[in-house]
Amino acid sequence: MTKKTYPYRLLTPGPVPLAPEVLKALSEPVRHHRTPEFQKILLRSLENLKWFFATAQPVMMLAATGSGAMEAALVNTLSPGDEILVIVMGKFGERWAEMGEHFGMKVRRLNVPWGESVNLDTLKIELLKNKQLKAVLTQGVETSTATVADIKEISKLVHEHSEALLLVDAITGLGAMPLPMDEWKLDVVVAGSQKALMLPTGLSFIALSSRAWERTKNARTPRYYFDLSQERKANEKGQTYFSSANSHVVALDVVLEKFKKQNLKTLQARCALLAEATRESGKLLGFSVYSKSPAPSVTALQVPDSVDGAKLRDHLEQTYNVTVMGGQDQLAGKILRIGHLGYITDDDLTAGMELVAQSLNDLGYKVDAAPALKVLKATLAKGPHVS
Ligand SMILES: *Cc1c(COP(=O)(O)O)cnc(C)c1O
Repeated sequence: MTKKTYPYRLLTPGPVPLAPEVLKALSEPVRHHRTPEFQKILLRSLENLKWFFATAQPVMMLAATGSGAMEAALVNTLSPGDEILVIVMGKFGERWAEMGEHFGMKVRRLNVPWGESVNLDTLKIELLKNKQLKAVLTQGVETSTATVADIKEISKLVHEHSEALLLVDAITGLGAMPLPMDEWKLDVVVAGSQKALMLPTGLSFIALSSRAWERTKNARTPRYYFDLSQERKANEKGQTYFSSANSHVVALDVVLEKFKKQNLKTLQARCALLAEATRESGKLLGFSVYSKSPAPSVTALQVPDSVDGAKLRDHLEQTYNVTVMGGQDQLAGKILRIGHLGYITDDDLTAGMELVAQSLNDLGYKVDAAPALKVLKATLAKGPHVS
């Protein structure tokens, strides 16, 4: 059979498949951003974002991918020369460390072995040793290794032992697991459109605690496009600082209203269920779970030794029209990363895993898919289902 006979299935940790009503919203005629109709949608979205972040603080949107909001977090709260501690659990931690260096901050890296979550005792020692730290930066989920961090405990440690702000890249964390910003005292939280918010790539989101807003007053890193004080002022007038990404915002409104109907717990439970089904069926196909602290939003399956993971990924895409991610750097060819965010039906995951099994067989690694699919279906049957 050729590729054409298989429907396209996107099972990556961003971008993610979109819900039918979101696709519909995106196909509507563009409405100018200075119309009362659009302003109403914008204001409602900004209000709903507060609910999504679980914060009383304003949440702002930036017409940039997630990395733009990561940059905004740094340049609005820090100055060149500030000492910061970056928890590096993989590629995205590395990105934040590089950004810090680029903007002239003194970056201390807390390097964590890939596939592991940061050790809390080690973090505590770093905090006690470095009283001058202005910020601690971490990922909620390190997408490159599919590993989750214990943000609640990290936050407690940071606030107990330092004056540092805690900046959390929650781009693949928010929506997949509890991360209540105010309750857990997170100082900056960053999210992205093509992950849990189930939109096309291109928007990112950021909220600051009142402590973090206080720091913006003395933060001397140059900023123009990402000046959050200006953004906030514009939002208060029902506008964005620059042109609104109008189609994205219209779709965002649909997503957030949908999420509110489902509630956050159901959304999180759905991610956890897809993750569990992927891990349990994956093990029965000969994979092992790569991460020691597996995330609910993405699963990294380590391929059997005799299988070339890069070939497996390409075969799955070229032959069966299923896209998953491989590994980067030291993990190249060693893992498949399967995403659990977005509009993923039971059928999407079932077909995806069945075709992973088929691909293994095609490449000469003989495996019986039946027991894995049985476990997969039994797990998914527990619900919740996608709606
Ligand atoms: C996707 C992602 C980002 C942002 O990447 P962009 O390509 O800029 O959207 C940042 N951090 C994590 C953990 C991510 O998964």
